[in-house]
Amino acid sequence: MKAPDFDFLRYTLEQPDQISPSTFLFPSGRAHLEQVGVLRLEPRHPKPVNLVLSVGIHGNETAPIELVNRLVKDILSGAITLGVRLLVIIGHPHAIIRGERFVDVNLNRLFDGAYDRYEGMEVDRAQVLTEQLTAFYDAEPSFENFHYDLHTAIRGSRFERFAVHPYVGEAQYQVRQFGFLAAAGIEAVLLSHQPSTTFSYHSYKHHNAHAFTLELGKVRPFGENNLKRLQKMDTCLRTLVTAGGLLQARQEQLHIFSVVKVLVKDADDYQLHIASDEKNFTGFKQGFVLASSSAGEYAIEQDGDAIVFPNTNLPIGQRAGMVVRKANWQQLNKAW
Ligand SMILES: [Zn+2]
Repeated sequence: MKAPDFDFLRYTLEQPDQISPSTFLFPSGRAHLEQVGVLRLEPRHPKPVNLVLSVGIHGNETAPIELVNRLVKDILSGAITLGVRLLVIIGHPHAIIRGERFVDVNLNRLFDGAYDRYEGMEVDRAQVLTEQLTAFYDAEPSFENFHYDLHTAIRGSRFERFAVHPYVGEAQYQVRQFGFLAAAGIEAVLLSHQPSTTFSYHSYKHHNAHAFTLELGKVRPFGENNLKRLQKMDTCLRTLVTAGGLLQARQEQLHIFSVVKVLVKDADDYQLHIASDEKNFTGFKQGFVLASSSAGEYAIEQDGDAIVFPNTNLPIGQRAGMVVRKANWQQLNKAW
């Protein structure tokens, strides 16, 4: 394996089932191919940062895959100098090859041990990725841990790029992370109201990582993404991997939302009364009946309450969307 010729994405998609672990040198460090779609880059002179960048946890979300593969290429070729420990994960190669979100079950619901409760090809993958995270973070326990899990969304959004913040309970929000998200071109942050089983939440909970799910625009096939729309994200990631620093912009420009209601599909005839292409963060008037079924209905409680991630094409008992409300930045419990 020669670093300048190595295309991590192509290699992964050509051998999606198994690889032989290998290691090779690049100008600023050593690369370790650990598993299918898992590349660990160890710099010669690391700043005290363990950074995980994951893409393709949903197979059809190609823009972040292209963005991060280009970043890896530039590190391996020596165009940029790696300054932090970096674990790059291409989440679900089989789904990427098929151009689909997942094959058997949504991989991003299987972390924090939740894979025990499911069946399908994603179960093994969730277990492998969980083990890789642990090995990576544990190798340098005194370093600060980060995990940015990059996605694109099925539908359009009033805010083209937004972040899902892990549930923090009584802990404080880190202002430096919000400043970084603003600098990276993120427009809105959704504060989770409860623990979840996503990949980023797993890193937050088990490894105390600054961890986010980042939605970076709309799903498009390979080759149809305009990476210029991710210019700020690219710049911020490059600064982070080379210098170990978080670029900052005014966090007050972010729109912050909290969850008021999780909509659950409660019957076969469950309906959301929105257009099929309604955008994420579309707001409604108080009293508007947003959801109804033979089992009940849900009406908007306050003007401006908005819908995120609506989806009724799923089994009874699963989440059909979330109703969110603008939160006040000043009132958040935060640390500088
Ligand atoms: Zn996704």
